[in-house]
Amino acid sequence: MVFGTLSLGIGLLLLALALGLWLWSRSLEAEAGLPEGEVIYTDTATWFGNHEVLVAHDLRLAGKPDYLVQEPDGMIVPVELKSGKAPPEPHEGHILQLAAYCLLVAANYNVRPDYGIIQYKDHAFAVDFTPELEEDMLDLLAEMRADLFASNVDRDHNDWVRCTRCGVRGQCDQRLG
Ligand code: SF4
Repeated sequence: MVFGTLSLGIGLLLLALALGLWLWSRSLEAEAGLPEGEVIYTDTATWFGNHEVLVAHDLRLAGKPDYLVQEPDGMIVPVELKSGKAPPEPHEGHILQLAAYCLLVAANYNVRPDYGIIQYKDHAFAVDFTPELEEDMLDLLAEMRADLFASNVDRDHNDWVRCTRCGVRGQCDQRLG
């Protein structure tokens, strides 16, 4: 009888724990502004690190999106979280990063996303993965691959803050600030 009561107590405890974990994960998903669907990949909000890097070998592209959500119709939507407040429009660099994740989804899941989401601290933007955006991203990747073998590459911005935070500023003869 005591054993039966103990088993029941443990069972209820496990049930409460499972319910708590489920509610916790749902609240994290809601906070992250995820669309309706199943989270099939996450590089954030996990107890253990995710070591699965998505790779598109032909493009020499690799990355880890914050979330991939599979919608009920099978569409897979990458979601990228940004800690800062939302600008009036998403930054170009963030759009291109999202486009890169769309390419990685296409290469790894055989599904071409129609769009992705950039979730800033206070606002989310749905960004269409248009053929034009895909073309821009492919052009940029081609340029980057070409630059890998160039002896010198010109700075492509005037953002001294970026240079201040750059890990190779000590070796860069084009640094600002
Ligand atoms: S320090 Fe050089 S490599 Fe780094 S961001 Fe500035 S220009 Fe680019």
